Amino acid sequence: MSATLQTTERPTHSSPSNSAPPTTPQPVPASRLTHQPQRGLLIVMTGASGVGKGTLREKWLNDQDVFYSMSWTTRPARSGERPGLDYHFVTPEQFEAHAQSGGFLEHAEFVGNRYGTPKGPIDAALSRGQDVILEVEVLGAMQVAAHSSEAVLIFIMPPSLTELRRRLEGRATETPERIEKRLARAREEILEAHHFRYVVVNDDLDRAVDDLCAVQRAERLKAQRYSAADLQSIVDQ
Ligand code: 5GP
Repeated sequence: MSATLQTTERPTHSSPSNSAPPTTPQPVPASRLTHQPQRGLLIVMTGASGVGKGTLREKWLNDQDVFYSMSWTTRPARSGERPGLDYHFVTPEQFEAHAQSGGFLEHAEFVGNRYGTPKGPIDAALSRGQDVILEVEVLGAMQVAAHSSEAVLIFIMPPSLTELRRRLEGRATETPERIEKRLARAREEILEAHHFRYVVVNDDLDRAVDDLCAVQRAERLKAQRYSAADLQSIVDQ
């Protein structure tokens, strides 16, 4: 699925009126070398439900050729969600069978439902040189980190738990009881943020997107991404 995928999530917060006008982030070029594509980045966005991961991803990936991994979930579709675009909605039995056959890169339970990242398409995209973005809760992100040292883990932080509550309530997709469960989980997740490589505070959408672009750009520039063969092919040209 390309980065042009739309989601129903909308920003529930606005930029301060004295901030710079919204900018369209410039795509980060994959490589300035022409001899061969480098492996793509495996970028994992994690953080509490309602923190705005989907909104950030949509704006960040605007016009970039990035593979967005669509998750499987046993959660019922919300009004306006599109099967096959927002999630692959499955029964608990289908989910369990896929998990048993090793079909998920990671999977976790979240507030009574299961969520998982299908493994198949991800490695192919990375090998093509395409960056891959996952949007997962914290336990899933930790599983990816345990299996893949290359994963770039970014924790999206709300300005405060009070603000997160405001956003969850404003989204009006959950019952008050489920909002409380999500907030209790958010509290635990925030306290785990130091396990991740980067923290981006989503207090202002444009600034947070700039931070994500900075992470992506810096990760692309890492010397360790060059194999001996890459370097040899440069001196051979
Ligand atoms: P929601 O029900 O609000 O769509 O998602 C609940 C939480 O599950 C969010 O934090 C969301 O990022 C996370 N999530 C979505 N897809 C996956 C997935 O494939 N794996 C894991 N571990 N979490 C996911």
